[in-house]
Amino acid sequence: MADLLITGGTVITVDEEERIFDPGAVAIRGEEILYVGPAGGELPANWKPRQIIKAEDKLVLPGLVNSHTHAAMVLFRGYGDDLALQEWLENRIWPLESRLSAEAVYWGTLLAIGEMLLAGITAFADMYFYPDAIAQAVAEAGIRAVIAPGIIGINPDAAASLREAISFCQEWNGAARGRITTMLGPHAPYTCPPEYLAQSLAAARDLDVGIHIHLAETEGEVEDIKARYGMSPVAYLCQQDLSGVHILAAHCVHLEQADIHLLAKNNIHVVHNPGSNLKLASGIAPLPRLLEAGVSVALGTDGAASNNNLDILEESRLAALIHKGYTGQPTVIPAAEALKMATVNGAAALGLKDTCGCLRAGMKADLILVNRHQPHLYPRFNPLSALIYSARSSDVDTVIINGKIVVEKGELRTLDRERIMHMVEEHAKRLLQ
Ligand SMILES: [Zn+2]
Repeated sequence: MADLLITGGTVITVDEEERIFDPGAVAIRGEEILYVGPAGGELPANWKPRQIIKAEDKLVLPGLVNSHTHAAMVLFRGYGDDLALQEWLENRIWPLESRLSAEAVYWGTLLAIGEMLLAGITAFADMYFYPDAIAQAVAEAGIRAVIAPGIIGINPDAAASLREAISFCQEWNGAARGRITTMLGPHAPYTCPPEYLAQSLAAARDLDVGIHIHLAETEGEVEDIKARYGMSPVAYLCQQDLSGVHILAAHCVHLEQADIHLLAKNNIHVVHNPGSNLKLASGIAPLPRLLEAGVSVALGTDGAASNNNLDILEESRLAALIHKGYTGQPTVIPAAEALKMATVNGAAALGLKDTCGCLRAGMKADLILVNRHQPHLYPRFNPLSALIYSARSSDVDTVIINGKIVVEKGELRTLDRERIMHMVEEHAKRLLQ
């Protein structure tokens, strides 16, 4: 951890005033941002950087946040594409998942983290099995993560899984110098009966952690929950006592206006996963209406098996494009909105709005440098337009998390990419044997 000065770049703060400094500077002391402002601005007295990064050709912005994924599902990437959701789950994914081991999840998660770091993702919300293996991978890689053990209320071992998930939260919440936080992950309304959901919420309240859940992903789910309980999935969740519990709800594709009001009223953080929803033909979430109602919406990739990559820059472009096409209005989801969803709203969805997501003095130093000196990024008119509509995640040059450089000149510094790719290939083969 060095005291670092990044100077001369175009600094996109994504702060409340949406300030951009060009040329700007960011000073980092230890884990935190000390200064953000014009290059050459007055730095605090007695502070001298140990390292200076000249960023003349770079966009400097908060790290991107992947607010819904199942990282280890990279193990199933490309195994079973072009299938309907239920067939995909029942015949492809669930049989392989039943054969997973902690070791496979560890290597899969490391691969996913490597992929995310190289794409400028500095924090992610994960929901999966073998959470200790996930936490181990996160601790080693230097990324920030909110890990939710996935728990399924209709399984025979439901009570034991909830107990284990509670122990996991007790052990890991705040670990790795605060880079790891935890949530409980009751999988979805159709796999978690009301009593189980109530127990999960009560446990989350006791632990002071959030809930990470899938909600209203498909039309089939809405029909199923209506038939079982006489209400929509959102109403089903909101009939519970949600007081004092932070809720991250992935998908929210099939919503009535009443559902949108409930989401807004209960301050539920919605995570939009346009790539996964398109690939599984789940539908298109009513994003403009959610934003209009004041719902905070972040972006997620979902698992790589239904995407098939973990690239939030790509999701932000997809979000900006599909809603224009779908609504017939080219003014919806402008570049600035898409960037907010990928950064500051992501941090809020992860329960980390006071920790990261924008560039401001006092925040943790989670930021990325994007190389702008590329044919597809000239001429240099509008940096937000360049980032959302033209840039590629491979343009990410440097990634800093908690004040530490984890990607430099497009190379991973904390992980051995060759070994990880090799181990994942081995484990993926074993799963198919
Ligand atoms: Zn998911």
